[in-house]
Amino acid sequence: MQNPTRAENSANCDVLVIGGGPAGTTVAPLLAEKGYKVVLLEKALHPRFHVGESLLPANLPLFERMGVAEEIKAIGMGKMGGRVCFAAT
Ligand SMILES: Cc1cc2nc3c(=O)[nH]c(=O)nc-3n(C[C@H](O)[C@H](O)[C@H](O)COP(=O)(O)OP(=O)(O)OC[C@H]3O[C@@H](n4cnc5c(N)ncnc54)[C@H](O)[C@@H]3O)c2cc1C
Repeated sequence: MQNPTRAENSANCDVLVIGGGPAGTTVAPLLAEKGYKVVLLEKALHPRFHVGESLLPANLPLFERMGVAEEIKAIGMGKMGGRVCFAAT
């Protein structure tokens, strides 16, 4: 995926992803990995402030798939999962 610094990049792509939040930055590299020419447009300058402190453990396999799990772990954002069990009566 190229850095979309020029307007003509967005006119010559298979997929135009608008928004570089979690959704856009997940789908864009996955599509690029499959061979699509992807342009991702983001209006804000990153890193930008974004409220949020929790992360569902169900995201962890996706981070592995995207190759960013180790980087996330390295910045101290480990996520412990939990399970509640009840005895059958
Ligand atoms: C107060 C609050 C607290 C939250 N806390 C949590 C939390 O603790 N844990 C959690 O998992 N989730 C949390 N969420 C939810 C989480 O923020 C969203 O689910 C997530 O950000 C959605 O991702 P997204 O990529 O769909 O959209 P967004 O994160 O909104 O990203 C959209 C992006 O598109 C860009 N954009 C918009 N219009 C254009 C345009 N015309 N051209 C180019 N770019 C554009 C924006 O700048 C933005 O970067 C919280 C949400 C709120 C509001």
